[in-house]
Amino acid sequence: MLPGRKMRIMGSVFCAWMAILLFVSLAAAQGQWYRGNTHTHTAFSDGDAAPSVVVRWYKEHGYNFVVITDHDRYTPIDQGDFYASNLTADFGQPGKFLVIGGEEVTDKVHLNAINVRESIKPQGGTDPVDIMNRNARAIRAAGGLPQVNHPNWHWRVNADQLIAATEVKHFELFNAGRDCNNSGGGGAPSTEEMWDRVLSSGRVLYGLASDDTHSLFGEFSMWQADPGRGWIVVKAAQLSAPALVAAIDRGDFYASNGVELVDYEQSDQEIRLELPPDKRHEVRYRTYFIGRDGQVLKRDDSLKPTYRFRGDELYVRARVEASNGTMAWTQPVFLGNK
Ligand SMILES: [Zn+2]
Ligand SMILES: [Zn+2]
Repeated sequence: MLPGRKMRIMGSVFCAWMAILLFVSLAAAQGQWYRGNTHTHTAFSDGDAAPSVVVRWYKEHGYNFVVITDHDRYTPIDQGDFYASNLTADFGQPGKFLVIGGEEVTDKVHLNAINVRESIKPQGGTDPVDIMNRNARAIRAAGGLPQVNHPNWHWRVNADQLIAATEVKHFELFNAGRDCNNSGGGGAPSTEEMWDRVLSSGRVLYGLASDDTHSLFGEFSMWQADPGRGWIVVKAAQLSAPALVAAIDRGDFYASNGVELVDYEQSDQEIRLELPPDKRHEVRYRTYFIGRDGQVLKRDDSLKPTYRFRGDELYVRARVEASNGTMAWTQPVFLGNK
């Protein structure tokens, strides 16, 4: 559905409810769950709002952190007059709200640099694989975490190239931008089909969801890139950039465009999820446990979906589908490797 005023109001209520749910239900788990957006533009590139306005939106809508990723520039996150009047003392404090520095390195393939403090020039390359590897290496060298963005945007990256780009461990499974073609089409696979192809090759790749925020103002339109539509929820020891980035690097997070998990646990034996009952909207869920070649290993319609490993699956991940059309994706568990 298109974003509109009613949806924005509903979204705000939904976000507030999710924030309460997160803090109440997950605080007791080992580590804490922190919700954030890793792909955010401001007026310092082609976004329409000052960084302080963008940051404030996330802070006020149930998020714990946001990564500012303007095109080909590092937007300072802790200095400058645009922050002075807006950043309050709780920004960056453990347990409050965190702004993480970053950049969208805008080469022929776009890669986000998460948690860098300097601009990284696009490194170029001979083909998409070379471009991904060279930029990922430069981002790592600057202390950041590389994330390949929107592979189906202008159909820039395919599954074989992702398999070959071995410097890359993270990609956008869901980018809320309307021109990112997450669902594939015309013979091209969806980003989720690409993901299973990469995982089936035995290569670890983690999938993120993000807003790719550009718009906080302007007329309502399906082509606006509004906030609040794709995010990750990270299980980390504390709300600090090093802890969050280390957890994302390990795959200790799930991606969502609307479904919130009460809990997620994995052991050597099984994966266990817990989903929130929602009597008000009568939301129901269907969870698919997925393995090699995208094969559905089990469907579970309960609020506590569980999958017990057989041992020969190669990997297992879960996709939770809500009756309102939104989803959550957990990260692959490679049997024998994790
Ligand atoms: Zn991009
Ligand atoms: Zn972007």
